[in-house]
Amino acid sequence: MVGRHRAHAAEVPDGLDESVLARVGNTPLVALETLSRGLGSMVHVKLESENPGGSIKDRTALSMVRAAERSGELRPGATIVESTSGNTGIGLALIGHLTGHPVVVVTGDTISEGKLAALHNYGARVVLTDWSAPSESLENARAVAARITAEIPGAWRPMQFDNPANPAAHYEGTGPEIWRQSGGTVTHFVAGIGTGGTISGNGRYLKERVAAERPGGHLEVVGADPYGSAYSGGHPGEILVDGVGNSWPEVQWPKVFDRALVDRFLRIPNDEVYTTVHLLLDKEGLALGPSSGLAVAAALRVARAAPHGSVVVAIAPDAGTNYLSKAFNPVWLAENGIRLAADAGE
Ligand code: PMP
Repeated sequence: MVGRHRAHAAEVPDGLDESVLARVGNTPLVALETLSRGLGSMVHVKLESENPGGSIKDRTALSMVRAAERSGELRPGATIVESTSGNTGIGLALIGHLTGHPVVVVTGDTISEGKLAALHNYGARVVLTDWSAPSESLENARAVAARITAEIPGAWRPMQFDNPANPAAHYEGTGPEIWRQSGGTVTHFVAGIGTGGTISGNGRYLKERVAAERPGGHLEVVGADPYGSAYSGGHPGEILVDGVGNSWPEVQWPKVFDRALVDRFLRIPNDEVYTTVHLLLDKEGLALGPSSGLAVAAALRVARAAPHGSVVVAIAPDAGTNYLSKAFNPVWLAENGIRLAADAGE
């Protein structure tokens, strides 16, 4: 357990921590052979749950911390403070722990037990606030994070929605991996959008690579969006897929999200998202989270309509084990009006 390891940090040679940092990225790209059967094209998923902290956000956290260390914004041993509801906090807690920065995560009092345990295991200080507090309230998570940052000398806030090191993690890491793993054959890239770092960094890299190496070729970037999100032009409302979509009353486009890279959006109903989560487990043996179900559902639609032999790559940001009380809980599904298709094995 990392918490125990931390207590004995002085006895642990540096190389051991470095080897965990080196395990961020280089995740597998696997073919969904059963779900793609009969579609005429193969869907592949990039399994980001294989990162040491369990999600794609390990890449973002490492990239932002390294960039801030290089620019001098983050001094050795200085504290990292971020308000976040989920994987970014866990990524920062892990990376901060391994790079010698204390981490303070300001999060909602509704955080799941599993995520809270992960934050504590990596030695983060967790400050619980009322996640629904409006921006003008003193209880608002961003306001609390700003106060804590001001109180701790040298403290730094990564601000993942504005930080160019977020999409750079994908331009420099995830994108080149997908290109290499697909042998340069990828034709469609599909991802959900939270900050937009994933879709922007991968989209830019893969489009540039196709333009350079497949004259006249095209790579289509597809944004998978849940119901309730305004990114795809829908009415803002409740979003039942963690980590993605935008339900603010006025759509706010994060600085790191380059919309011009998205060729089209697909809005996927919740029933289809959660049915896909269950099909991934039943047919492929992959226990993945709801935003993975969203991206794969969109990718299956793309593969069905694409020219024969297309190579569709979808991002799977994290594992299903984080969502046992939701995606894999019939009571939660029923309470939220989600109906799984009959062949999803429920
Ligand atoms: N899925 C999950 C589970 C996430 O936590 C996030 C990050 N908020 C995303 C998808 C979207 O990634 P990005 O912020 O790079 O758009």
